[in-house]
Amino acid sequence: MSGSGVCMRLRAFVLAMTVDADVVEPDLAVGRLRCPGCEGPLARWGFARRRAVRMLDGMRSVRPRRARCHACETTHVLLPAFSVPRRRDGAEVIGEALLSKALGDGHRKIAARLGRPPGTVRGWLRTFTRRADAVAASVRPWAHAIEGASRPRPPAGSPLADAVDALGTAAMACRLHLRTQASPWELAVALTGLLYGRPRDPPGFSRFAPVVRVPSRTTSLQNS
Ligand SMILES: [Zn+2]
Repeated sequence: MSGSGVCMRLRAFVLAMTVDADVVEPDLAVGRLRCPGCEGPLARWGFARRRAVRMLDGMRSVRPRRARCHACETTHVLLPAFSVPRRRDGAEVIGEALLSKALGDGHRKIAARLGRPPGTVRGWLRTFTRRADAVAASVRPWAHAIEGASRPRPPAGSPLADAVDALGTAAMACRLHLRTQASPWELAVALTGLLYGRPRDPPGFSRFAPVVRVPSRTTSLQNS
């Protein structure tokens, strides 16, 4: 498998996680989107209820597509990556809080700057801290797969900061090599769920596991 082929297919998987709505609809139409439960093809299944997402500069309305997997008879709501599953605030808002915490700010200062209740911000930080190791472990293979072998990063000072650093590295790799315009925090949501769901390889990623983990193949990816 050529490196560019792997990259394009990884790009397809990133986009399949609803980073780009323009890609989701045609992908759904031809069965290219995969069920997160069983990897069966997803088909259109109407829409979920409209919801409002609080962004840094106001509200953004979204009417998410609903999709159904006929293999396991499960329906899924395909949220755009600017919204964080089960949170009213968007990826850029929660991401800003996580980045500020990684840089040393406390939750009250972050809350005041974002105009959110301190308890809400503290909840994001606590939830992310609990998931930090799993988030970091789940995104590091992305950076390796896309960029090839990379130098180990120095510890950032806390599990939360390490995870934010790992997300940043993976998002940078996606933006540089997969030609996606999604923001780093949208990519973070697409790759890990950020605050919700078990961080895991995205649907279809297991097929690339040998490519990701064998150093010689990784090197060939880097040189392609
Ligand atoms: Zn399924």
